[in-house]
Amino acid sequence: MALMTREKYISSLKELGHHVFIQGELIQNVAEHPISRPPAMAMAETYFQAEQEDRQSLFTARSHISGETVNRFTHIQHSVEDLVKKILMLREMGRKTACCFQRCAGLDCMNTVYAITYDLDRTHGTDYHQRFVDFLNHIQTNDLVTAACMTDTKGDRSLSPSKQADKDQYLHMVDESKDGIVVRGAKLHITGAVNSHELIVVPTRALQEEDRDYAVAFAIPADTEGVTFIYGRQPSDTRRLEEGGSDVGNLYYGGCEAMVVFDDVFVPQERIFMKGEYAMAGRLVELFAAHHRASYGGCKVGVGDVLIGAAAAVAEVQGTSNASHVKDKLAEMIHLNETLHAGALASAGKGYQTASGAYAVDPLLANVCKLNVTRFPFEISRLAQDIAGGLLVTMPSLDDKDNPQIGKYIDKYLAGKSDVDSENRMRILRLIENITLGTGAVSYLTESIHGAGSPQAQKIMITRLADLEAAKRYAFKLCGINLRDDSPK
Ligand code: SF4
Ligand code: FE
Repeated sequence: MALMTREKYISSLKELGHHVFIQGELIQNVAEHPISRPPAMAMAETYFQAEQEDRQSLFTARSHISGETVNRFTHIQHSVEDLVKKILMLREMGRKTACCFQRCAGLDCMNTVYAITYDLDRTHGTDYHQRFVDFLNHIQTNDLVTAACMTDTKGDRSLSPSKQADKDQYLHMVDESKDGIVVRGAKLHITGAVNSHELIVVPTRALQEEDRDYAVAFAIPADTEGVTFIYGRQPSDTRRLEEGGSDVGNLYYGGCEAMVVFDDVFVPQERIFMKGEYAMAGRLVELFAAHHRASYGGCKVGVGDVLIGAAAAVAEVQGTSNASHVKDKLAEMIHLNETLHAGALASAGKGYQTASGAYAVDPLLANVCKLNVTRFPFEISRLAQDIAGGLLVTMPSLDDKDNPQIGKYIDKYLAGKSDVDSENRMRILRLIENITLGTGAVSYLTESIHGAGSPQAQKIMITRLADLEAAKRYAFKLCGINLRDDSPK
């Protein structure tokens, strides 16, 4: 079985038996709890799309291990075309769900660990790569979801991992035997963690020799003893608990993050992909960052498509669509959104082959793409709110329509143009509210700043990757400056 159906995936979540807490309560099934169901459904959409006949070329790929058709969310990219298709696939998913659909973090992590284990083996004579290929084969063959567990809690950020007062602020090895290792720590903001069958754990930063115990990478099933998931809250998430739930805006989907605690968790040898090779941790983080920063020029652009469509629809029902300033705002939104996509596609187009044979995106362009993502969705949201008007946040509940006493007032006064159904206008406003202020804003806005690294991380990479010395030489040549080593500056 290389492709799982959506239904099978949803039932697999129930069987997972992992420990998930929401608002202080251990829950039984993430696909049924009203708060966590929409994120589970967003993840499930990655299965549904791969089942569709006309979507096969985008959502499936041929495994380089088995030769079988696999979900592209489990595929190791082996060409520029693969890199491009991933970006296009993520945009499609963003359009379908208008949220973070979570599965790409694990995908990008798998592509990273695939390349890094190859490099580790070449440098250290280890056998991590074959172990990882075996794990990957398991993921592809069973069409499983993996979560990328990278970000540590970090404690005092002015101190390195081994200098922390509480050593567990970065996940680390606390014991070792011939069978495996024991690890302790916690990972924060883990996208889709509760909807994942397997967790891939990797370091969060470059490490020094004294941080050797923190240089661990491995994979374990989500129900491993000692692993606990504590679900992250989101603005307006309890609207999902309301009867009917019509004010949620996005009726079907949502993103989710969780804190994942590893309380003395045993990892068997065959699932360890790095153990003490601290010098490779920085490269691992940079490679993952490049992959995932490019991904944002796919997923967030798809959400942007939905928001732009919603804003255009609101303008129509309110009678402002022909106003020149509204047309101008919509043009600006499209321009910003497509600029994000262009950056991601360019990073894929300039992709390169790693020593492992897998392809990676151009890191400079991927970082430029992500730095734009930290800004443009905010401007797109501002323009959408501008077009929508203040009713976006002062509007009564959709439930008020059902009250015999006041429903007629809602119909009469909130219809906008005379041929408009007030409910339709309210629904589209609620969707804009969701994406720019509610649960969806976690995916579209705050995650756009901090997901895959905060803006400063991109600035550092851009500065490091750009060849400023070459740029200076171009300038010198054109204006007749001929610098020798002993020339005055
Ligand atoms: Fe995928 Fe985007 Fe969510 Fe990252 S933020 S997991 S790229 S949908
Ligand atoms: Fe993310």
